[in-house]
Formats: sequence, structure tokens, C-alpha cells
Amino acid sequence: MPVYKAPVDDTLFLLNDVFSIARYNNLPGFADASADVVEAVLGEGAKLCEEILQPLNYSGDQEGCTRNPDGSVTTPKGFKEAYEAYAGGGWIGLAMDPEYGGQGLPYTLGAVMNEYASSANMAFAMYPGLTMGAIAALHVHGSEEQKRAYLPKMIDGTWSGTMNLTEPHCGTDLGLLKTKAVPNGDGSYAITGTKIFISAGEQDITENIIHLVLARIEGAPAGTKGISLFVVPRNRIDEDGSVGANNGVTCGSIEHKMGIHGNATCVMNYDGAQGWLVGEANRGLNAMFVMMNEARLGVAIQGLAQSEVAYQNAVAYAKERLQGRALTGAKEPSRPADPIIVHPDVRRTLMSIKAFNEAARAFVLWNALKSDVAHRSGDAAERQAADDQLGLMTPVLKGVLTDIGFDNAVKAQQMFGGHGYIAETGVEQFVRDARIAMIYEGANGVQAMDLVGRKLGRDGGRAIMAFFNEVGGFIKDHAEDEGLKPLLGPLQLSLGHLQQAAMWFMNNALAKPDNAGAGATDFMHLLGLVSLGYMWAKMAGAAQEKLKAGANGATERMNAKLVTARFFMERTLPETAAHLARITAGADTTMALAADQF
Ligand SMILES: Cc1cc2nc3c(=O)[nH]c(=O)nc-3n(C[C@H](O)[C@H](O)[C@H](O)COP(=O)(O)OP(=O)(O)OC[C@H]3O[C@@H](n4cnc5c(N)ncnc54)[C@H](O)[C@@H]3O)c2cc1C
Repeated sequence: MPVYKAPVDDTLFLLNDVFSIARYNNLPGFADASADVVEAVLGEGAKLCEEILQPLNYSGDQEGCTRNPDGSVTTPKGFKEAYEAYAGGGWIGLAMDPEYGGQGLPYTLGAVMNEYASSANMAFAMYPGLTMGAIAALHVHGSEEQKRAYLPKMIDGTWSGTMNLTEPHCGTDLGLLKTKAVPNGDGSYAITGTKIFISAGEQDITENIIHLVLARIEGAPAGTKGISLFVVPRNRIDEDGSVGANNGVTCGSIEHKMGIHGNATCVMNYDGAQGWLVGEANRGLNAMFVMMNEARLGVAIQGLAQSEVAYQNAVAYAKERLQGRALTGAKEPSRPADPIIVHPDVRRTLMSIKAFNEAARAFVLWNALKSDVAHRSGDAAERQAADDQLGLMTPVLKGVLTDIGFDNAVKAQQMFGGHGYIAETGVEQFVRDARIAMIYEGANGVQAMDLVGRKLGRDGGRAIMAFFNEVGGFIKDHAEDEGLKPLLGPLQLSLGHLQQAAMWFMNNALAKPDNAGAGATDFMHLLGLVSLGYMWAKMAGAAQEKLKAGANGATERMNAKLVTARFFMERTLPETAAHLARITAGADTTMALAADQF
């Protein structure tokens, strides 16, 4: 059966040694997150994920969700109890506002827990994950009355939350949205329409489900400028806060799908359901963006999480499976064959996943800390800079971590040979589960367009210039560091590729937008690779320092970091040259054929 061990030591190295979380002590909630507290919190979280969530992953996949004739949905055995354990442990409210029952700890710790939970059981983790996204949207855009009515019960896990955008004819292009909202005359609206693909839309885990629904108020403008956000509880909530009758919200069916079988993907019918406007009328997309941005980072983490759990299982198998002999002579002559981990091609595969996972974890935490700064700092300039970075990096995190996360799940499956194709080993589930992360929350091609079309040039390119300066500054500051020199040369070269690509877009995309569209995915990956390379440079710097200081029992791990950093620079980062070549080839051949020539 599959295994999973949460990488707590690696996370602690990042938080303490690479990003020095103690530096952020002045931010609300961080003073409570001393090194001891962080270690204890992550240790507890790891235990919950390893002992409760992970054992339900395979069974949840096999069993799936069932829609019953009365429209209710039954989730796999054990999910309800696991949710109680999750919520009861305070994990939903970990980083939430104490005013509404949260613990107010750094969001960064929530991101770590999200990684562990998604590795252990991605389908399960989506139930609390969507609830946390809905809490964030209500917290930012809801009225005080709405916050008081919903947040405490969502934070303590009594109720869950969902996100309802997609309709049968409208996914990426939300301007086509048809769901209607008609004023009831008492401040509420009657919501009518059909939403599809709604994750956790119906379930038997919580007492009530609080749906956040995009709809168009009667008479509102067409397109995205006429969309509003509504909070629509599945069951009415009585004056005293108790849950009443159904509010005209039903699950029409659940999808039979490739993966995440333990998460119910629902068709939701709203039949005059009573809903309340969240934020301003016709500004619903803006309000929903809070949830979407949060969810995009969550989905990025799913990519990393599936890559990590697939890697752990591939490593375990590669150490066990005996086939062939090492090219340099038998490593275990007393056995009939050597374990496959002796083969360079197996190692190439495992090293490339390892080098991605560790850098991707750093990339996530670097940006999660920026999210904390953006939301909690008292310094406006610091908030602005953090927000700029998050805006730029959110599509990169989402697109790159899920594209490569899926590739890595496939690579890990390959380590199992034919056994990886057989359900029993559990590794094919990681491939199936990882696949959706490239699609939902905005398909990755659309993330790339968001990056190139909106984020890159925003505010005169302020965010990308800040990134160039930061990475360039790091390279300059460490130019004399003999240990880092072998890493900084390749990083400098790839940073140059990124700068040339950005310049090429400036000169060639305005007059010919197809040039931007055809190169967008390459640019997203190019920026992702340079970011991961920068993470490796920072990690190697911290590892060197730690080794100099005696490493405190982590010598082997720190030496491995230095080797993995070199591997990444030598074997993964050079891909930036290919991305640059594709970008500067422009759109001509991509767009030349007529549709009927395909
Ligand atoms: C399991 C699952 C769970 C989901 N959960 C939720 C949920 O909880 N809530 C919710 O609201 N939705 C949810 N979705 C919906 C999901 O977010 C959409 O499927 C996704 O955003 C893509 O929309 P679409 O399927 O309509 O594809 P389309 O928009 O039709 O896109 C099809 C393809 O065309 C490409 N494309 C479209 N427009 C452009 C463009 N302008 N530029 C470049 N390429 C473009 C896309 O990249 C994609 O590859 C879920 C979907 C699934 C399968």
C-alpha cells in the first residue's frame, strides 16, 4: 500500500534557515509562532495527515461518492470522522481571524498543512480547502452581519463552503454566465440557474453548506461587468442560527471522473434560492477573485503535493525492487539482482523529481510569506511589494507546479514499471488525482495568458522588475562565494533568458498579440524555472551556513541539499534556453494553418 511521511524537517529548514520566519515577528500572529510552536504545530499536522487522512486515500478513491435518490450525497467511509478530526484540531481556523473564532496564526503555516493534507489525501483536503477559500472571500467582502452569521460556524467546521462559477456553457469565459438573481424586495435575492462541476457541492460531512455563487442581477450589463457574488446557504438559517429547511438548492447529479473520486463534483440547481449580495453589485468577479487567488495557490500546492507523495512511493519501490545489475558491477552480489535505484536512469528520474519538489516547496513558502506580509504588514510599501509579487507569481505557481507536478507523478509511476499501471500499488491514483490541478481554477493555458497579458506589464512592469532586481542582487552579493559559484553562473544565464523573453514580448507582442498568446506557456515555465533556480541558490546558501555552524545533526541532509542544487542547475535549469527559443520564434507557424487543416 502507498506510504506518506510529511516532510516536516524540510519545511522547518525552509521556515527557519532559508526564510528566517522569526524576522516577521512584528506581523500580527507571527509572535505566537515561535520556533517551538511552529515545530509542534507541524508535528501535530503531520500526524493527522499520516495517520488519519492518508489511510483513507486509496479506499476513498475506490469507493468514491454516491448521489442518493433524495439528492443527498454520501462521501467515502471515514471522511466525515476525518473532517471532524481536522476541524476539531482547529486546522480550518489556523490562520483565520480570531474575531470569528480563528487562531490567527500565519497563513504560511496553513499553506504547509495544505501541502501535507493534499499529499495524504487530495480529494479529502478539498473539503476544508474550499471552505477556507469561502471564508477568505466572506472575510474580505462580506458585511459584518454576514461575517457574524457564517464565519464562526465555517471556521469551527460545522458548515462548509463552496465556490460556484462554472455553468454548462461557461467556464473560462465567465462573461457568458446566465444564473439570475432577482431582488426579493427584502434585501435578499432569488437565485435561479444551474452550476456544474461544483467541488464539494453536496456532501454528508457538515450540517450546512454555504455556497458562494456568481449570478447576474436582473437588468445588469452583459459580460463580466454585470456579475455579482451571492452567499446562498443550502439550508435556511433561522433567527437563532439553527439550520432550517432546504433553501431551493439541490444537487442534480455528481460527475464520474478521472480522479479525486472522494470529492463530490456536483451539478447544482438553484431554484429561486434565497441569497444575499456579497460586496457591491456587479463587482462579483472582483470579490470572487479573493477566493480564486487563494484557491490558485491551493491548487499549486496540490501539484507539489502529488509530486511529493508520488516521489516518496517511487523511492520506496526503487530501493526494494530488484532488477538488473549496476553498470559499475553488482552492488548487492548476495542477492539475485540489485535494487533498481542503482541504475543511472532511475536516479535521473528520482533526482529530477526531488530537485523540483524541494524548490517548489520553497517557492510556495516564499510566496505564502508574501501573502502574510500583504495582508498583515503595517507598512504600505512593504504590503505593496508583497502584493505585486503575489500577483505576478500566482499564475506561475498554479501553472508550473501543476504541470510539473503531473509530469512528476507520471515519472514516479514509471519507476514501478507495469506495476505502476495496476491500481493496487496506488501510484496510478496520484497520476489521476494530479491531472485535475492543471485544469480547474483556470486551465494552465489561461494562467499563462493572465501572466503575459495582464501581470507582466502591470504598473509598468514593476513586479517583474523587482524580481529581476532581487535575483540579480542575490547573484551579485554572493559573487565571491566559492561554494555558490557553480550555481550562480547557470542562474545568471537563465535570468538573462528570462529578461530577453520579457524584452521580446515588449517589442513584439503589442502590435501582434498572437506572439504573446503563442509564447505565454513558455514564458510561464521560464519564469517558473528561474524562480525555482533562485530558490535553490537561497537554499544552498542556507545549507552552507548551517554546515559551517555545525549543522545540528543535519549534516547529511544539508550536503544532499548542495548536491541537489547542483543537479537542478545542471540538468533542469538549462531548459530556459529552449523556452526562450520557442518564445522568440513568434506565432507565425502556430497560427498559419486554417482550422480545417488540423
Ligand atoms: C473535477 C472538477 C472540479 C471543479 N470544481 C469547480 C468548482 O468547485 N467551482 C467551479 O466554479 N468550477 C469548478 N470546476 C470547473 C473548472 O474550473 C473549469 O472546468 C475550468 O475553469 C475550465 O473551464 P471549461 O471546462 O469550461 O473549459 P473551457 O473554458 O471551455 O476551455 C477549454 C480549453 O480551452 C482553453 N481556453 C479557453 N479560453 C481560452 C483563452 N482565452 N485563451 C487560451 N486558452 C483558452 C482552456 O485553456 C482549455 O484548455 C471544476 C472542474 C472539474 C473537472
